[in-house]
Amino acid sequence: MGELIKRCDTNFDVIVVGAGPSGVSAAISLAKANKKVLLIERGDYAGAKNMYGGIMYSHALNDIFPNFLNEAPIERITKKHNYLILTENEAVGISYSDKLLNSENNISFTAIRSKFDKWCVEEAQKAGVIYAPRTLVKNAIVRNNFVIGVKTEIEEIYASIVIIADGANSLLAKEIGLRKDIEPKDVALAVKEVYQLDKNTINDKFNLINDKDGAMIECLGYPFNDVLGLSFVYTNSDSVSIGIGITLDELAKNSLKPYDYLDQFKNHPEISPLIKDGKMIEYSAHLIPEGGYKKIPKLYTNGAMVIGDAAMLINNINFEGTNLALVSGQLAAKAAIVALDCNDVSKNTLKLYENYIKESFIYKDLKSYKNIIESVKKRKKSFLDFYPKQATLFFKTFVEASGVEKRKVYLNFICQFFKSRSIIELFKDLFTLIKMFLGVFIR
Ligand SMILES: Cc1cc2nc3c(=O)[nH]c(=O)nc-3n(C[C@H](O)[C@H](O)[C@H](O)COP(=O)(O)OP(=O)(O)OC[C@H]3O[C@@H](n4cnc5c(N)ncnc54)[C@H](O)[C@@H]3O)c2cc1C
Repeated sequence: MGELIKRCDTNFDVIVVGAGPSGVSAAISLAKANKKVLLIERGDYAGAKNMYGGIMYSHALNDIFPNFLNEAPIERITKKHNYLILTENEAVGISYSDKLLNSENNISFTAIRSKFDKWCVEEAQKAGVIYAPRTLVKNAIVRNNFVIGVKTEIEEIYASIVIIADGANSLLAKEIGLRKDIEPKDVALAVKEVYQLDKNTINDKFNLINDKDGAMIECLGYPFNDVLGLSFVYTNSDSVSIGIGITLDELAKNSLKPYDYLDQFKNHPEISPLIKDGKMIEYSAHLIPEGGYKKIPKLYTNGAMVIGDAAMLINNINFEGTNLALVSGQLAAKAAIVALDCNDVSKNTLKLYENYIKESFIYKDLKSYKNIIESVKKRKKSFLDFYPKQATLFFKTFVEASGVEKRKVYLNFICQFFKSRSIIELFKDLFTLIKMFLGVFIR
């Protein structure tokens, strides 16, 4: 052991564990400040083990990779945002589209993680980051209550600071006492399939002007009528990603498996034409942290900080995770730079990271949304089943020409609405909605 500790001579300023968006952002930010950084990734290459929906947001990338828009492997820029409420055979939707959007600020785009993460790491290497792929970190090395390095399968490596960016099921953050065991209600399992389709076919199916433009669809309701789950479709350059996510506690209570839900979603009449004639080229599953604000763990300790999904920093309401990961990585790097420069990597200095997070949109957004998932869960029969069915029924009534006087048709709709919902239930739903609404504005 003494021999190994001597390796302190070749110390790194910072070791970052995990080359996802949070890890690469921390690593490159540190390298740009001339710190000696080692970025460790267990996959054969960055992104090899990663999957997401997925959309990325330029606001977080502009700062870290100013060249990304021209150089990164972007699939399509999202010009069409569709939100659907589904029942078994029907759909009601709203759509926002800006097909002429040409701003470089605040765009969102699809990217394939195995390509995009790889590109990010190459950029980090150009900035001076030392990169170690195919390296699994097994433990943190802790001495005198300070994290001083990591143990991989073959060696011990030392650094002044360790930044933990190992994703949703962070074993390292748990090991050093920053996180507890993840509870089934605080994590969702997402499954996704990717269908290869010709670029022009995708443009036609999604009503896109050219193959640089993309569309996304996020859905509520069927197949999740009595369990909390969401489904999505995103266009890539020459493929379409389609998936669902469901919390583990809901899954445990249910006889259906995630792929059963995905099958039901894929076979919905509004969705199935979108992947018709496509060839399935990928099937993957991944965890998504769902704990939100109430489950943000302690973010730092002596010699270590935890970032991105490992720190539960994910906004599930807006489908934002990569941007929170990138920004938290930057903020941890900022705190690490101060700590290294003043030669104090104790929690007294690393607390700065928590302060930065608290001042950022990350903490504020998660705080605003802190009760939403719980509230929807409590009233899921209402919000995922009753109201979607009422919405489709209303539109069916609205579009049908049955030769019956419209006033009568609407009165019938209103009568059946109040017959199928007691006033008490309506008040409970309204109360939940008001609570959610106020929760966003009153902290
Ligand atoms: C189905 C799905 C859909 C999503 N959709 C979106 C979306 O549309 N938009 C969005 O912004 N976000 C989305 N997200 C969330 C987003 O993917 C995450 O928030 C983001 O990837 C978090 O980045 P991260 O770097 O913290 O963690 P990760 O991306 O999980 O990276 C962690 C890295 O650490 C490595 N690692 C883990 N353990 C070790 C170890 N012991 N040693 C070495 N390396 C290790 C892993 O291999 C991995 O590369 C989605 C997620 C899922 C699952």
